[in-house]
Amino acid sequence: MRFNPAVENFASKIKRATVRCMLPVVVQHPLAQCHLAAIRAVATPPHQFRRHLNLLARMLFLEATRELPVQEITVRTPLTETTGSQLARPMVFVPILRAGLGLLDGILPLVPDASVAHVGIKRNEETALPHAYYANLPANLASADVFLLDPMLATGGSACEGLRQLKEAGALRITMICVVSCPEGLDALNRAHPDVPVFTAAIDDGLNEKCYIVPGLGDAGDRYFGT
Ligand code: URA
Repeated sequence: MRFNPAVENFASKIKRATVRCMLPVVVQHPLAQCHLAAIRAVATPPHQFRRHLNLLARMLFLEATRELPVQEITVRTPLTETTGSQLARPMVFVPILRAGLGLLDGILPLVPDASVAHVGIKRNEETALPHAYYANLPANLASADVFLLDPMLATGGSACEGLRQLKEAGALRITMICVVSCPEGLDALNRAHPDVPVFTAAIDDGLNEKCYIVPGLGDAGDRYFGT
């Protein structure tokens, strides 16, 4: 992986602030960075925003699943028997409503038999605090590889609440996938959930007074759904 000043800065801050943590993986594949530039651009209309976000999510997910355990299976081809792979554990995707659905749309075709759980967490625009209003989680979380999906890791409030709910429901192996992150969100997540790896395409400068990520891409849900 190439040297990334954003990760280095974050790493040195974190070293001073916390005892143990997982460094975020910033996916710097040139194509991922091109999709990121496209969704950042204010001129990108919703139909293109959707396409770029779906593809970027897919690239982050591929990176996040690189080490996933598989089981060897026997496959009969039209010619002979050979060996193949199947996932060793069930997979559960958990989009945080509603913007997380934009990541799900890109990822689900790769693992069509995954379960999809939902958590509804809304940010109170006055206080920027998370408000959990919905949860539908499957019973097999403890045995599954679980992926929490939210395009923006801003204050970290929604992500931390989502992770709290997932752990309370039994999840043991959770990975967070977010497209754009910032030091404040990563720090909050590391403090509350240092065991959860984070895959992102960017660590931006920080939050503005309304807790939007800067430079960011604006409101991911509004841009994805054209609202
Ligand atoms: N949520 C968004 O959609 N955008 C931000 O910049 C922060 C939170």
